[in-house]
Amino acid sequence: MKRKRDSQMGRVYASEYSVHSLATHLKSLKEVQEFARCVMDDPLWEILWTVNNPGCASCPKSVRFSKITKRRWSRSVCDVYCGVIRLAHDWGLNKLVVLHEMTHLLIFGQEKAWHGREFTGTYLALINRHLGVGPYTVLVRNYKRNEVDVDPAPIMAMIKLKQDAPYSERMAATTKGTENG
Ligand SMILES: [Zn+2]
Repeated sequence: MKRKRDSQMGRVYASEYSVHSLATHLKSLKEVQEFARCVMDDPLWEILWTVNNPGCASCPKSVRFSKITKRRWSRSVCDVYCGVIRLAHDWGLNKLVVLHEMTHLLIFGQEKAWHGREFTGTYLALINRHLGVGPYTVLVRNYKRNEVDVDPAPIMAMIKLKQDAPYSERMAATTKGTENG
């Protein structure tokens, strides 16, 4: 099945710039991996998979990271078929970028656009949960300003989880320096 045209990609990227500095910078691939482990161990991960891929059981449970160092500047990329994320060596070592690339893992194997409304809804849900309401609010505002389409279903699922199972203290401890609410 062919993917839908990625018509809002430029506006999705543009909306992220002012949020990047609000998210925690990570010092090494080890820290990236630890953060990714927290994201995948949190119940929201599997919930978002189910919202995006109803009836499909193969939720990704692990991901490998590497750094792009060849060029001075390059864009981070996610190979959803191999479960590998390559991060730009400077800009990419940041929780916002890690969550962006990990969101691609949840919009797997479908006809949906790479940065379509399902992507932005899922990304916002992960940001609220793992980076807190500050970065979330700024990104929501930027999406509105840039007329980025957002699917509300993943966000509704996140809000419901927040009521049923607040962010655990263990998670909060391993993602220190972030605001959660
Ligand atoms: Zn992307």
